[in-house]
Amino acid sequence: MSGLLDRVRGALVGLKMPRALEALDHTLHRLEQGEITALEAIDTLLSEEYSTRETRWIDVALKTARLVPIKTLEGFDFAFQPSIDRERVAALAQLDFIRRAEVVHFLGPPGTGKSHLATALGVAAVKAGRSVYRATLAELVEALSKAEREGRLIEKIRFYTRASLLIVDEIGYLPITQGGANLFFQLVNARYEKGAMILTSNRGFAEWGEVFGDPVVATALLDRLLHHAVVMHIEGASYRLRGHADLIPEHVRANAPIAPPPPPKRRGRPPKIKNGAASL
Ligand code: ADP
Ligand code: MG
Repeated sequence: MSGLLDRVRGALVGLKMPRALEALDHTLHRLEQGEITALEAIDTLLSEEYSTRETRWIDVALKTARLVPIKTLEGFDFAFQPSIDRERVAALAQLDFIRRAEVVHFLGPPGTGKSHLATALGVAAVKAGRSVYRATLAELVEALSKAEREGRLIEKIRFYTRASLLIVDEIGYLPITQGGANLFFQLVNARYEKGAMILTSNRGFAEWGEVFGDPVVATALLDRLLHHAVVMHIEGASYRLRGHADLIPEHVRANAPIAPPPPPKRRGRPPKIKNGAASL
């Protein structure tokens, strides 16, 4: 009996099943006590190992996709950002937009959760077994420029088109040179109708000419990026600055569209509204 047990242990080591090996003694004990059947014992050992591996595999995939620090939709406070349609985000989390190779835009001022939502959708996609890659626009352009200098542009574009979801974060924070805009256009063109993208930007589409330093390239980019697209506008206060609105100088508040804190809740009777608009 102990020879047989040693053999099982040896096989679990050889098969690289450390979690099953760990669970072996306890599972056998429960089996001997009649608490579980033989089939349940096998199931316990295999599913322990399997779920450990799956977790580890997802961890690696999340790091490879550059989705750390991890954000989730469960961790998003929709009550704080009422301009976001929760149902639409939930629909996106079904991930059909990836199969349809659509483009999702999150637009809004800093700190309103654009990167959080983009990352959370990326995390959901990784968990569903899809390949994802996330980078800021500046990082993408830099990597593409470097590849071009080294004569590896085609391979680099191929690398970025392999992921079934490409997340391009922070469009508009840093100006892009004309050469950079051209490189990004080549990437967008390569993915067009083939792979899904999520883009986040603090600038409206009308300002893309300025962002990309070239209105012609910006128009060509928008032509592709708005064709099969979902646009989510976020209007609201920065989550980073919640509770600190009073510390921000007035002129900064006015320029960066950081909304003032909501008015205090009224108590008592609702205010009278003139012109019969009360029924609205
Ligand atoms: P943006 O990309 O729009 O500038 P982020 O998504 O990076 O903003 O959000 C800034 C920080 O605030 C992040 O740590 C993010 O997780 C958090 N955050 C933003 N909005 C929310 C929210 N509604 N609920 C929970 N956390 C939020
Ligand atoms: Mg961001």
